[in-house]
Amino acid sequence: MLNFTPSNFIEKESEESKFFVLDNDSLLIFSNEQFIRPISSNELKWSGLDVNEKHFLGFLNDDPCYVVSVKKEGCVLENHEFLNLRALFGRVPDELFGAISRALQIINWSRSNKFCGKCGSPLTEEGKERAMICTNCDADPLYPRISPCVITLIHKENKVLLAHNVNFPDNFYSTLAGFIEPGESVEEALKREVIEEIGVEVDNISYFGSQTWPFPSQLMLGYFAEYKSGEIVPDQIEIDKADWFDINNLPNVPPSNISISGKLIEAYKNKFN
Ligand SMILES: [Zn+2]
Repeated sequence: MLNFTPSNFIEKESEESKFFVLDNDSLLIFSNEQFIRPISSNELKWSGLDVNEKHFLGFLNDDPCYVVSVKKEGCVLENHEFLNLRALFGRVPDELFGAISRALQIINWSRSNKFCGKCGSPLTEEGKERAMICTNCDADPLYPRISPCVITLIHKENKVLLAHNVNFPDNFYSTLAGFIEPGESVEEALKREVIEEIGVEVDNISYFGSQTWPFPSQLMLGYFAEYKSGEIVPDQIEIDKADWFDINNLPNVPPSNISISGKLIEAYKNKFN
C-alpha cells in the first residue's frame, strides 16, 4: 500500500528515490504496465533524459519522491510514453493522485515565477520554505498558488439538478462549480454561483469533501445544497441547459472514481438505494 506524505525539504539524496517525470503537462509512463508509477533512480540515470528542473515533493512510503522536468525527445527507456495528465487521471491510483497533482503544481509554480511582479528582478528559491523571493526588493514571497473552487450538487428529495456546460458532449451533465472570489466565504460563493449560472436559490448547505485538481491549481470544495426557490434559467454563457433528474435515471455524469463531482452524485444516489 502506497502512502504519500508531502514535504518541502530533504536532508540527503537516497538510492531509493522515486521520480515523476514531466514534459509540460505530460507524464512519463510505461505502456506495458497497468499502473502508473514514478521511475527509480536507476531508470532516470539510464533514461537518456536531461533534467531541466528537479523539486522534492515528499515521501512515498519512506522513499524520497521528486518531480523532474525534461524534454521527452531523448528518452530511451523501453515501452515509455508521455501522456497528458488530464487524459491519465482515470488510471492514477488514488494514493498517487495527490503526489502527481503536487508534482504538476510545483513545476508550474517554478516555471511561472521567474521575475518579481513588483520590480522585475529575478526571483530565487527561498531555501527554508517552498517560496520564491525577490533578489532585489521586499515583495511578498510567492508560494505555490492554490485556487479554491466550490462545487455543488443541488438536490430536492430524489431529484438532483445537473447542468450542461457549453463545452460538454451532448448528453453529459454535471454539478455546478465556480471559483471563490476574494472576500467571499465558501457558502457565499456557492449561493452566488448557483444564482449566476442557473438562477435558483439554495439553502441547507452541507460540506461533503475536497479534492485537489491541478489544472492549473484548484482545490475543489464539494458541497450538497438543497433547492429553495426559483425557476431554472441557464446563463447561456457557461451553462446552456440544466434540469432536474431522478437520482435513478441520470444522464451521462462524471465517473465517481475520478472527480469529486462524480463522488457527490454517487453519494447522494446511495442515500436513496
Ligand atoms: Zn522585487
